[in-house]
Amino acid sequence: MGTKVRAFVRVKPTAHFAQDVIKFGPDNKSIDIYIKKDAKKGVVNNKQTDWSFKLDGVLHNTSQEMTYETVAKKLVSEALTGYNGTIMCYGQTGAGKTYTMTGATAEYKHRGIIPRAVQQVFKAIACSVDSFITVRISYLEIYNETLCDLLSTTTSSGASDMQMAIVDCPQGVYVKGLSIHSVSDEEDALNLLFEGETNRVIAEHSLNKNSSRSHCIFTIYIEDLYICINSKINLIDLAGSERLSKTGSEGRVLKEAAYINKSLSFLEQIIIALADPKREHIPFRQSKLTHVLKDSLGGKCNTVLVANICGEALHVEETLSSLRFATRMKWITTEPVVNVTYDSEETVKTLEKEISLLKQELAMHDSLVNRSLVTYGPLTDVQVAEIKSQIHEYLKGAIDEIDFFNTMLRGCCFFFFSQRQQEGEVETRLRSKYILIDKNDFATIAAAQKVMAGHLQHALVPVPSYKEINLVHLFPSIRKEGTKSLFSGRDLAAHLPSKSQVVVPTKNLDVKEKARNEDTVKNDAQPSKPISEEISQRPSSPPSKAVAFEQFKEECGSEINRIFKENKSILLARRKRSSTVARRINIIKQEMEDIKKALEAERQERSQQGEYVDEKGRLIIDEKEFLLIMKLKDLKEEYRCSYAELQDLKAEIQYCQHLVDRCRNKLISEFEIWYSESFLIPTYVQNALKPSGNIRPGMIPINRVMCLEEDEQERFERMQEAMLPTGPDSVAFYKAKMKTDQKVMSAGHSSL
Ligand code: ADP
Ligand code: MG
Repeated sequence: MGTKVRAFVRVKPTAHFAQDVIKFGPDNKSIDIYIKKDAKKGVVNNKQTDWSFKLDGVLHNTSQEMTYETVAKKLVSEALTGYNGTIMCYGQTGAGKTYTMTGATAEYKHRGIIPRAVQQVFKAIACSVDSFITVRISYLEIYNETLCDLLSTTTSSGASDMQMAIVDCPQGVYVKGLSIHSVSDEEDALNLLFEGETNRVIAEHSLNKNSSRSHCIFTIYIEDLYICINSKINLIDLAGSERLSKTGSEGRVLKEAAYINKSLSFLEQIIIALADPKREHIPFRQSKLTHVLKDSLGGKCNTVLVANICGEALHVEETLSSLRFATRMKWITTEPVVNVTYDSEETVKTLEKEISLLKQELAMHDSLVNRSLVTYGPLTDVQVAEIKSQIHEYLKGAIDEIDFFNTMLRGCCFFFFSQRQQEGEVETRLRSKYILIDKNDFATIAAAQKVMAGHLQHALVPVPSYKEINLVHLFPSIRKEGTKSLFSGRDLAAHLPSKSQVVVPTKNLDVKEKARNEDTVKNDAQPSKPISEEISQRPSSPPSKAVAFEQFKEECGSEINRIFKENKSILLARRKRSSTVARRINIIKQEMEDIKKALEAERQERSQQGEYVDEKGRLIIDEKEFLLIMKLKDLKEEYRCSYAELQDLKAEIQYCQHLVDRCRNKLISEFEIWYSESFLIPTYVQNALKPSGNIRPGMIPINRVMCLEEDEQERFERMQEAMLPTGPDSVAFYKAKMKTDQKVMSAGHSSL
């Protein structure tokens, strides 16, 4: 027995709610519409004046949070166990589809289903112990039967890409050419959402179209590599469902409306077809929208519909049509199945066939070499136990050989051996770097903890082995939700007044450039006021970034700067070594050339003087030639070793370079955050950022603070108060939002 599609209705709050037209059932699951006969003047079919719709829930005066809990939470948690999920918002323009799906991106509290789903996914990942979950994101827009990639990196502002196409394959439907972006955390994913939203807005202006005329599909792809399952969550903001007649559109607008109505009515047809168990062919390919949604509606996934309606009497006609659509959706039965990554039926069948062919071949081979009675099936538990005991005996030295009565057994043996060997290797490696303590030895653990308290962050710094040292060193600088930033403006207060004087460079160097040249640039120092003073006085203009950057590197950024320098010096050392080896190789090469020439001369001389052969006809050469040949042999060996060393060094350099780049980026990004928080945020906001305050750094969209007008301050304070209770969960949201805002702002500046 399958599951039904769930359908909800969400009523947009309005001052003019038509109480006598729209009535809610006491269970909050039904909605009744009454229309007075005279009021409708033939607009609505005369025969019926009352309608009653049964749904899974009526969301009336419901907060964004409650809406998410009711509509999406279960679907998202099931997606984490391998079930595809689709949530669609349907309704006339202005009824609240975008508000429900994306939400008001300016404020955390008003964020919609998409940012909440992203948060739920990453929270679940953080909580699971042994997960290898990867998350990817795509954002597709369908406008006039054209596919647009809202996250395209090649085409600007989400312009349509002619190469995109919908492709059917055994694993499901996908859009060829649609960019899918890996994201490592919530902030990453939100950055993409906000970027997509910006592209939507830009496209809206450049094409002079209204986003309400396009369908937008935000997809979260989840893959658990550990248990081999994958799923996707489609979050769909459908185009406005208003009827053509009412809009009175003309020309291009009419064409757009026609497209939208067409794709929505195809969607409706598909829904009707899906609800009919006798229907065999479902015409998914009729429109781009229905084609893309083929495996999202096709009955193998969890599907939820939200019908957004306006509460005004004026819109009753559209409200009725949306409620009808929602009710139809409820007729569909789905059979959600877990998507197993590698076990698609096709693969299993192919493998089974291959196995049986291989068995036949083996049997044939065995009979050819007169070997019979060999079994090639999987091992039974008894056989596994037998082989384990044989290995133990063998390792103890009790037996000299292990019997391979089965090929599978040989593999099994190998596995057990390599496991034991690996354990040993891991332990040896650990011992070389750490003090290993027996986990049951509580006294020693307590003592060790005492020693480590205070410098916990360095507790795991190993002895220098360059790969590990850099990786471990990067950890302390990674900002995690719930932990205090290592380089927040607050720390500055603790570190100041500074012992060093601030130096003002002659030129206001670009910070990025400075970081790149950071250990070669020497500033023409010129003393100025200590930064502490500048901060306490909150100067009208913040210090130049170059000045602040120097300060940052000495104070809050000293740790990351140290790591950066350390990595750089390792890189430098490898480079030096590499050029030494390269030089040596060249010398060897030259020497080899010289010897070859000398040998050639020897040979020529020999052939001119006549050659000596021994009694067996072997050529006799003089000692000089012999020594040359031996020398050449040695040089060849040396050349081979040096060449191998050079190759290794090249790989190491590449790796080190990568680490250095990462450190540099980290240094710059931490600096940017620190700079914003230290100099750009007003003092009273800083107070809220203090350890006792509820706001954490990064929460406040900086441009909102920056562009405050005098009379807007009050509004900001109100907004801030509203944000206070939301706590640290909102950090990623505001950070991503801030980034997008800054991008848009700087794009705006550069186009000026
Ligand atoms: P649609 O996407 O369906 O065209 P929008 O989501 O853009 O409609 O909503 C239109 C306006 O109504 C927006 O300003 C939005 O913020 C507001 N709005 C919609 N639904 C709600 C709601 N439930 N609560 C508060 N404001 C809402
Ligand atoms: Mg909208």
